[in-house]
Amino acid sequence: MAAKDYYGVLGVPRDADDAALKKAYRNLARAYHPDRNPGDRKAEERFKEISEAYTVLSDPEKRAQYDRFGTVGGIGEPGFGTIFEDLFEGFFGGGDRGRSRSRARRGDDLRYDLEISLEEAAQGMETKLQVPRLETCDSCRGSGVEPGSQPEVCGTCRGQGQVRFSQGFLTVARPCPNCRGEGRIIRNPCSACRGQGRVSRERLLKVTIPAGVEHGNQLRLTGEGEGGTQGGPAGDLYVVLHIKPHEIFVREGAHLICELPLTFPQVALGDEVEVPVLDGTAKLKVPAGTQPGQRLVLKGKGMPHLRGRGRGDAVYDVVVEVPTQLTARQRELLEEFRGSHDGSSGPRVSKFVERMKQLFGS
Ligand SMILES: [Zn+2]
Ligand SMILES: [Zn+2]
Repeated sequence: MAAKDYYGVLGVPRDADDAALKKAYRNLARAYHPDRNPGDRKAEERFKEISEAYTVLSDPEKRAQYDRFGTVGGIGEPGFGTIFEDLFEGFFGGGDRGRSRSRARRGDDLRYDLEISLEEAAQGMETKLQVPRLETCDSCRGSGVEPGSQPEVCGTCRGQGQVRFSQGFLTVARPCPNCRGEGRIIRNPCSACRGQGRVSRERLLKVTIPAGVEHGNQLRLTGEGEGGTQGGPAGDLYVVLHIKPHEIFVREGAHLICELPLTFPQVALGDEVEVPVLDGTAKLKVPAGTQPGQRLVLKGKGMPHLRGRGRGDAVYDVVVEVPTQLTARQRELLEEFRGSHDGSSGPRVSKFVERMKQLFGS
């Protein structure tokens, strides 16, 4: 290595202190950084010189050696890389090429499909989910670098992650083949995560499902998704709720609908019947003269409102079952029932008969 004037390269006096060195280096590095001077070989050479000069002069031992002998051995890319990293942290922070920032990646969001029963949706519940996920490595905090060592700036692309080729008049940028676009090289990968920055783990996560949730509702567990890398934040975990179809009830918002088959005497004479509710059974009054399709309601026996107080209703759709097989005795009684009035047994029937007479005169 030929003797070089490192002080001259940085434009500082021989007795410049650390702060003056650093300031000079930053100003020059900024001006000659390859990012600012794409395709400019001279700027690139100058940038290398500046970096080399700073690498030597910022190291007290190397500086002393240089001051005495006018040269220093063993200046390679590694040392350059370390200093480059230190200084450039946040250096290009405002620009879209901020290398150190762009490496930090937020972890992916995860989705967990959870099937629960209608009863569980009504009561709310606490449950534990077994979630396999990638977590940020504790050992290297996601950097992928063995603790105690440093990633090196890639010598091929000088940390830019891309290299430029000249093809005729064109300059083409491609991802750097040496570092695969990362801009840095990990010589000492973290042994805990094999340099991945993340490790797969199964976590048991406690989830509280509020009462009144509906099919398709999502619960977001902030930061419980996959771990970020290079200091990026974790993603979120979305628990998507599926409510199993219920044997008896169909849900309409906060109301629970159930079909209630009744016999003709029950609806004609009135009755009190036992009906299902979500947590057992209840008594339901069937008023005399209940019509098919009428809805009988038990107030407040439906689902709780997810937001707000109270509950919906349990609703019973009345279906009247007409007997298809009559005993002789039943037939006799029904015949007697029919003969017991003049045929206009109800307002709807009378109205219909009246209308037919008007229209067709029969
Ligand atoms: Zn690690
Ligand atoms: Zn590279």
